[in-house]
Amino acid sequence: MTIRDTVSTTARSTEKLADGVYAIRHEDAPDAFPQGNTTVIVGEREALVIDSCYLPSSAQADVAQIRRWTTKPVRYLVNTHWHYDHTMGNGVYRDAFPGITIVAHVETRRQIAGYNPQWFEKFPTRGDQFRKAITSGKDGNGRTLSATEIAEYESALTGLEPVGREFQPLAARTDLTPDVGFDRELAIDLGGREVRLLHLGRGNTAGDAVCFLPSEKILVAGDLLDHPVPYLGGGYPVEEITTLEALGRLDAETIVPGHGMVLQGEGGKAYLGQVTDFLRAVVAAVDAEIHRAGAGSGKLGVVKAAVLASFPVVEWRDKFAGDDQEAGDFFEGFALDGAITAAYAAMWGR
Ligand SMILES: [Zn+2]
Repeated sequence: MTIRDTVSTTARSTEKLADGVYAIRHEDAPDAFPQGNTTVIVGEREALVIDSCYLPSSAQADVAQIRRWTTKPVRYLVNTHWHYDHTMGNGVYRDAFPGITIVAHVETRRQIAGYNPQWFEKFPTRGDQFRKAITSGKDGNGRTLSATEIAEYESALTGLEPVGREFQPLAARTDLTPDVGFDRELAIDLGGREVRLLHLGRGNTAGDAVCFLPSEKILVAGDLLDHPVPYLGGGYPVEEITTLEALGRLDAETIVPGHGMVLQGEGGKAYLGQVTDFLRAVVAAVDAEIHRAGAGSGKLGVVKAAVLASFPVVEWRDKFAGDDQEAGDFFEGFALDGAITAAYAAMWGR
């Protein structure tokens, strides 16, 4: 039986991947923000956690769960990238494990210092965006929303208040940024267990880190890989192709994506290949249309319309989403649209 993954997650779940290695999947926040997966790796001496998710209350539940799994202290927290849904729980880990070191790629460290404190200021504007979408029936890109999507915006609007309340105490904190930045690779020994942190190139962000356990053949990919639909709302799609190719060369049998279910065996590599192929197709189509549209930076609209007119949208939608309406809408409205926009941004200036 094929298990069908979904883009929204309604329940929290945990999974043991090997002795002392666990993945936690979080339910979406009440304001509809998806929460990144968290991975826990326990060595003989100490433990390492990858990504602190979005809601401090979810991170607190994770810490309680980790304490049931092990009495060893969490000595390292890795942030795979700066996005709020992977980092806003950092403070919970600081409080729970005073000796902790937060590690990230140098660029991610810089971005968390720059972007994350702004979230507290930007947060109230989310309500304005939601209300605008509900009233106009269109998303930020002008796409008409389905009845289901409008209902989701309405539910997210009521969820803003409790989420905002959770973030309030974080606004004054100055200890949420990673302590240590690495450039290409950092090997950490947790006691009888080697963890390799790697930056394989830019992709989802400028500072994506992945975590690889060579003995257990487990790869924690962050948002370089999300299931069942890639999160390609921005980033560096041209370089991401090379980054994903490098990811595919790691000898992994289990892949923990940034969002979605843990992928096992050949299925994980096949899905990684599918995402890479999709990016290749988008980048090639945008490249061709930039030539046709002519030089300059103001042709995004023309290029996007031309790409969408010829791109096999239905075929790709079907590969990622099948007959799942929500996943299909997410693919078209977020992944495809975002990949075209980001590819244009990367390639117009030639
Ligand atoms: Zn994410």
